[in-house]
Amino acid sequence: MSDSPTAGAVVIDGKAIARAVRNQVAKDAARLSSERGVTPCLAVVLVGDDPGSRIYVTNKEKAAAEAGIATRDHRLPASTTEADLTRLIRSLNDDRQVHGILVQLPLPDQIDTRTVLELVSPNKDVDGFHPLNVGLLHMGRPRFVACTPRGVMEMLRFHEIPLSGRRAVVIGRSNIVGRPMAALLEQANATVSICHSRTADLPGEARSADILVAAIGKARFVRGDWIKPGAVVIDVGINRTDDGKLAGDVHFEEARERAGYITPVPGGVGPMTIAMLLANTILAAEQASA
Ligand code: NDP
Repeated sequence: MSDSPTAGAVVIDGKAIARAVRNQVAKDAARLSSERGVTPCLAVVLVGDDPGSRIYVTNKEKAAAEAGIATRDHRLPASTTEADLTRLIRSLNDDRQVHGILVQLPLPDQIDTRTVLELVSPNKDVDGFHPLNVGLLHMGRPRFVACTPRGVMEMLRFHEIPLSGRRAVVIGRSNIVGRPMAALLEQANATVSICHSRTADLPGEARSADILVAAIGKARFVRGDWIKPGAVVIDVGINRTDDGKLAGDVHFEEARERAGYITPVPGGVGPMTIAMLLANTILAAEQASA
């Protein structure tokens, strides 16, 4: 945790919290190895040569290696057919040495993303995207939970931010962030609203939030006067601005003047996503070897 230099919000240090999670993951990996003779293993599948995806995959593999998690690197050409990818995923599903399977998105146009994600064994679904795991989450029986919302919950827990009985507003309703985020907050007994592009009065909804999560994909969209004084502001957005810099969905400088806590971009939610991927891989290895 780092306190902001001026008056205003506590800036939540995602890098430091992610480091703590990764240290725990490393301990868990060492324990699985010594007690059960199991080396947790994550298969990473990248199709095509999208530069952003390549960086993500490299960072995930590096973080895994540092935590004592083995990786299987499958980099396939952009011309890969759905049938080829299907064969690979089936073989990874059957491989007892592999505990987690990550298919980096986006996939090339000739491949149907939904078909592929539904093919990943729900027991190896460390991204938490399989309909079975999504269903379990929404029934209040979470098993593999999508890494970004799980990371946000870990940040809130780290700072001991109370959720029960408080109002949470999630802007964004994607399957990978907004929807699972809202489910987790509701299960922590917050009263949750989900906002989206058709929400009638977005600033008004945001102003009602004790906990505001922005997962929109529009740089600096959430303005300072949308923030209830003292609110917790979690900025999931990662946007590239015209000047090549990274910016969140929240106007950070304005919002930090009113918020109680705020996550920066970069260095906020992003590092947590990778840490939770590793934590989910440990969970998969534990379950497979129980
Ligand atoms: P999606 O594009 O899938 O979803 C965006 C959501 O924002 C949609 O529900 C959309 O509403 C809503 N939205 C768009 N425009 C508006 C608007 N003008 N007013 C209100 N709501 C709006 O994005 P993702 O959920 O995948 O990602 C969101 C952001 O989070 C992106 O910047 C992405 O890069 C980032 N991200 C960061 C991660 C991390 O590790 N930090 C991980 C994953 C994503 P509607 O449904 O009506 O279209």
